[in-house]
This record gives sequence, C-alpha cells and structure tokens, in this order.
Amino acid sequence: MTDCIFCRIAAGEVGKLVYEDEFIAAFDDLNPQAPVHVLIVPKKHVARISEIGDEDAETAGRLIAVANKIARDRGIDSSGYRLVINCNEGAGQSVWHVHVHLLGGRAFAWPPG
Ligand code: 5GP
Ligand code: ZN
Repeated sequence: MTDCIFCRIAAGEVGKLVYEDEFIAAFDDLNPQAPVHVLIVPKKHVARISEIGDEDAETAGRLIAVANKIARDRGIDSSGYRLVINCNEGAGQSVWHVHVHLLGGRAFAWPPG
C-alpha cells in the first residue's frame, strides 16, 4: 500500500472522486480556498510538476482538459477560474503528488500571494 494520500484518493481507497478516467482523477479540496476548489491529479505518481517530462506531456494536457470540463460542469467557465500548480515548498507545495488546483466562484487578485 502506498503512503501517498493522493495516490490513495485517486485509486478510490479513501474520499470521493468528482471525476475519473483511465489517467486522471479529481476530488474536492479538503480545505477549499474558493467556492469551487477541485484538485486534478494524474493517477500515475509524480511528486512535482518539474518532474513532468516529454513522456508525460499527454497526461499533463489531460489535466488541463479535465480541469476545463469540471469548470464548465460547475458553471464557472464564463465568470473565470484559476488553475494553479505549486512546485516545491517555496511556491507552497505541501502534497508530493502533482495536482492542479481549479479555483473559481470568486474574484482573484493578481499578482497572487
Ligand atoms: P499544495 O499546497 O501542495 O499546492 O496543495 C495541497 C492541497 O491539498 C491543499 O489545498 C490541501 O488543502 C489539500 N489536501 C491535503 N490533504 C488532503 C486530503 O487528504 N484530501 C483532500 N481532498 N485534499 C487535501
Ligand atoms: Zn501519489
């Protein structure tokens, strides 16, 4: 058994998925920072986005396509949404399995904090 919590959630062992296909899983963030806050992850364990290489390019594209689909399903596509990937501690990464944050349902400041 893996001790990676996002591998376990993506495998359906714990929590509830809001989207799943052969390569990608998505679930609501435990500590939402916006009315819509969904995490989209590859089923393959990759610790950080900087480890995504040419061989993972298709999976990386799927992460965005799934985020866009969920944004449409949640009705935030026209109001606007933000996709965030934190890489390493200095950027705020705290879970070591690649994840795209889909945030929406409120206004966002720029530059981000
Ligand atoms: P990071 O800081 O790595 O960019 O984002 C990690 C995110 O995962 C945080 O927003 C945090 O709330 C969320 N998170 C951490 N542990 C869990 C968990 O066990 N379940 C869910 N659904 N979200 C989690
Ligand atoms: Zn993992």
